[in-house]
Amino acid sequence: MFLYYKPLKYLLVVKGINNGQKKTWSFAVIKGIILKKFHDNSSVLADCAVINTRRIYYLSIIAIPLRIIDIYLFAFTKSYDTLVQKTWSQGIIASHSILLIFMIGFFLTSHKLKNRIEPNATMFVLQYLVMVVIMTSGIAIVTLDQLVTTNITPFLIVCIVSGSVFLIRPLVSFLIYVTSYVAYYCLIGLTITDQHILLSNRVNGITAIGLGFLLSIILWHYNYTNIVQKRRIEVQQKQLEQMAYYDPLTDLPNRRLLEKLVKREFSSMQRYGYETILIILDIDNFKNINDTYGHRAGDDILRQMADLLKNNVRESDTVARFGGEEFIILMPNASVEEGYAYAERLRNLITETRFTIGPIELQITSSFGISSMRDINSQTLEDYYFLADKALYLAKQSGKNRVEKANGDRD
Ligand code: GH3
Ligand code: MG
Ligand code: MG
Repeated sequence: MFLYYKPLKYLLVVKGINNGQKKTWSFAVIKGIILKKFHDNSSVLADCAVINTRRIYYLSIIAIPLRIIDIYLFAFTKSYDTLVQKTWSQGIIASHSILLIFMIGFFLTSHKLKNRIEPNATMFVLQYLVMVVIMTSGIAIVTLDQLVTTNITPFLIVCIVSGSVFLIRPLVSFLIYVTSYVAYYCLIGLTITDQHILLSNRVNGITAIGLGFLLSIILWHYNYTNIVQKRRIEVQQKQLEQMAYYDPLTDLPNRRLLEKLVKREFSSMQRYGYETILIILDIDNFKNINDTYGHRAGDDILRQMADLLKNNVRESDTVARFGGEEFIILMPNASVEEGYAYAERLRNLITETRFTIGPIELQITSSFGISSMRDINSQTLEDYYFLADKALYLAKQSGKNRVEKANGDRD
């Protein structure tokens, strides 16, 4: 594989044998891949900080009583004859006590933060701090242990616990493990006098560190893939939802979503006892616009109308595109009179607005039909639409650019 650079085209070509195909990469593609990787990585780091905080919480719940039991066993159940044994037990008690204080601190901090979905700076720092404290305690205990025993179990345990509990980036994990090994290597030299045991424990320490790092990498890789996949599925789900419930032309809720909203609105109306108004807006003579300026110009007008409606409804109202050049406005907690007054304002606003097709300015009018959801006892959009559509028909029959109210009689 070799690289060459074409300065004029700003094109980096990577030639290689890849299933017999030549691969061509532009800078934009490479930049895109790096940015995507960076974005994936930073979103994974945020997820990891959240997961680690919860794990620290549960780890501290287990570690705190264990530390208390350890301290109790060393302080009250053994008698120590020699000075070395006394130094050993006091050192161990001191190490466990310091670790206990840290663990209580970690418990309190993680208890406060464990339900956060978005991590904060404390959570990012906490995960590394806990890992460093645990590794340090393991090294301190194993160093003191060498006064009376040759085994390095505490060091092995902290390596395995750190590797299998915390989701830490391989680079950071590598740095922590290497630093820990250097500290372990030097400190056990202070308490082990027998050179053969020292050599054996230093070699065994490498195995412990290697095992911890291996676990850490496996755990990271597994979770990284999982989290990235979960993110992708979430994005795809949102896209599917957008496609299923929103009109692609205007970005407004479509009929399907409106059906759901009407059902919900019906329950709210019953629960809170208010009235909800449904308004149909139908653009007058829209076919003429299509016929005169073309279908794409018609689409553009529909988008402009959607923006005008979005910008002129109350926050609690819903504007949806019912289909074609018909829009529906759902006004919760409003009377028929308020709905009528609002539709009148909207009708005037539309008449005064200059819609544009390129340089051409266009005046548009609309007709409105209004019905109250209190007039019929139904959960279906179709029933409410039927009533409002009758009023709309009346508005069209009476010369268009008008607002008409339904009389509540379905037949
Ligand atoms: P009225 O005043 O009686 O409402 O007349 P109108 O021309 O507005 O109504 P009609 O139902 O006769 O025509 C509606 C037109 O809307 C016909 C159809 O081609 C057009 N239309 C429906 N959906 C779209 C769309 O998504 N984009 C465009 N550009 N036109 C559409
Ligand atoms: Mg129509
Ligand atoms: Mg129309």
